[in-house]
Amino acid sequence: EAKKNGRNKYVFFHQTLYESRLKRIELEGDLRRAVANSELQLHYQPQVNVQTGELSGAEALARWHHPKLGEVSPQDFIPLAEDTGLIIPLGNGLIYEACRSQRQFLDWNLPPVPLSVNVSVIQLMDERIVDEFRTNLARFHLDPSLIWLEVTESISAAHFDTIKNCLEKIRQIGVKVSIDDFGTGHSSLSYLKSFPVDVLKIDRSFIDTIHESEENQAIVRSIFEMAKGLKLTVIAEGIETSAQLAWIRHEQMIYGQGYYFSRPLSAENYRDYVHHNHFLNT
Ligand code: C2E
Ligand code: MG
Ligand code: MG
Ligand code: MG
Repeated sequence: EAKKNGRNKYVFFHQTLYESRLKRIELEGDLRRAVANSELQLHYQPQVNVQTGELSGAEALARWHHPKLGEVSPQDFIPLAEDTGLIIPLGNGLIYEACRSQRQFLDWNLPPVPLSVNVSVIQLMDERIVDEFRTNLARFHLDPSLIWLEVTESISAAHFDTIKNCLEKIRQIGVKVSIDDFGTGHSSLSYLKSFPVDVLKIDRSFIDTIHESEENQAIVRSIFEMAKGLKLTVIAEGIETSAQLAWIRHEQMIYGQGYYFSRPLSAENYRDYVHHNHFLNT
């Protein structure tokens, strides 16, 4: 009986592996077509000054509606795009799209707050991304301070200088650089001192249990203190509850983002949200 079970497991395992590989190849082809046909979209999540309740910015997040599978998470298709090189055309398309949306938001008379676009470290290995920002800012007549770039902390030492150079050039245009998911990677203080960065986004894993974990409170407080010393802006990610918000406010932090305020929204829903919540009455 045990032997039989063991064999079944073995067969099952192989089928799953085979199927998942097949699915991945299929998905890669679909993503390639989606990128070529500009089928990827952006949604926008409001960022808020938690002290005043005012809208302070928004983050653009990629969305892919697959014709058969429905919504595919960026946590699945971004890594796929990174592995296959598709991240370059995909990422360029999203920089265009973010600038186009920002122009649309200004034309809708929304408050002129920065829109952050996520980029992968792979995009920062090639300096041509600097021109993607420059060209699209000009194309849509945008003040460069209205587009920010977000990149995660996971930058390997091997590519540190390449990425640093690239970010420096992007900052010279006037685009601000945020370190995303801060606290989860391997940054050291010296890294931050020498890195071209303006904003730290505290990872939501720290905010999740902020009211019950003294360790997380200590971590968030010290990130905030350090950021003050380095004159960096801090954004708390993943605020979901009023208790979390209360803690953030009590610590005198200024900027926050999370489901408590809003999930990421389509452009039209974002417009309506901001119109009805210019001051968000926190
Ligand atoms: P991220 O850049 O850290 O984005 C924040 C993620 O957390 C988003 O998930 C957002 O919907 C989610 N989130 C925001 N507030 C809350 C909250 O209060 N609670 C919880 N549980 N989640 C919250 P999303 O849109 O699924 O994106 C996942 C990740 O995929 C992003 O993490 C980012 O690393 C990547 N990604 C998304 N769009 C792009 C893109 O255009 N380019 C690149 N390179 N990566 C992207
Ligand atoms: Mg982000
Ligand atoms: Mg993040
Ligand atoms: Mg993330």
